[in-house]
Amino acid sequence: MNILLEEQGLRDGLQTLPTLVPLEIKVAWVHRLIEAGLKRIQVASFVHPRLVPQMADAEALFAQLGRRSDVVLSALVLNQKGVVRAIDAGVQHLAISLSASETHSLKNTRMTLAAAKVDFRENLRLAQQHHITVRAGIQCAFGCRYEGQIDPQHVLDLVKHHADAGANEIALADSTGMANPRQLKTLMEQVLDVAGDLPVSLHLHNTENKGLANVYAGLEAGVRQFDTAFGGLGGCPFIKNATGNIATEDTVHLLHQMGYETGLDLKKLASLSQDIAQFLEMPLPGALYKLMQEPIQVC
Ligand code: ZN
Repeated sequence: MNILLEEQGLRDGLQTLPTLVPLEIKVAWVHRLIEAGLKRIQVASFVHPRLVPQMADAEALFAQLGRRSDVVLSALVLNQKGVVRAIDAGVQHLAISLSASETHSLKNTRMTLAAAKVDFRENLRLAQQHHITVRAGIQCAFGCRYEGQIDPQHVLDLVKHHADAGANEIALADSTGMANPRQLKTLMEQVLDVAGDLPVSLHLHNTENKGLANVYAGLEAGVRQFDTAFGGLGGCPFIKNATGNIATEDTVHLLHQMGYETGLDLKKLASLSQDIAQFLEMPLPGALYKLMQEPIQVC
């Protein structure tokens, strides 16, 4: 059984770091991810360089990496300006999202949800007119630090909204890490129903240490695509105390132990996270890359 992982370390992982990672280092990391078997990598976001300086080199990064047929290199955009920049940079796959939380929407995009929906549809259309496939996301789908619980029906309505708008894929994000496995499984079963033939992925943050438990719940519900970040690095500049995604190598290890296939090389992934931790001069939240440092063997 195959599971598709999308590596988000370059974008979600790096976006809040104070140390700027040089372009050539990012390029080298992307190549190592491809070598480890990743078929989807979100490498940048086209956002305002003043708000997220780490992503200021998005165009240069896409130019360096070039168009590839063996791996999908994606980017995140928040507005029309971002879509236009992505078109000009030759990006072939974009992540565009709405927040299920009105308050988070206002903080993240300075738009009400109603306004964001209109904007979203225009951006999606613009991207698709330029032959870019769009993964339509729902942020804060399982809870919001400002609003607390999010009504599941509201999330299902947004899934339908995305599908009706012509999205190529759907992604649900536990941006705050508040989801619990039972809640997630119940909602994802319904989401998969509403999404029909559209691929559905989960973007899980490990803020409350429930990330991998939620992977299991997602698998049980039938989800086969997950976002991860090397070493579990990351956060969100607009969410208080947000932490990283589930760690790529920890997720791969869990999936392999349970008999799923990912096509990924755990040792190569762990070794990359070791090097990234060394480069950033700080330990990353992930567990496996530390365990896989010599001489301990776990696989
Ligand atoms: Zn995220």
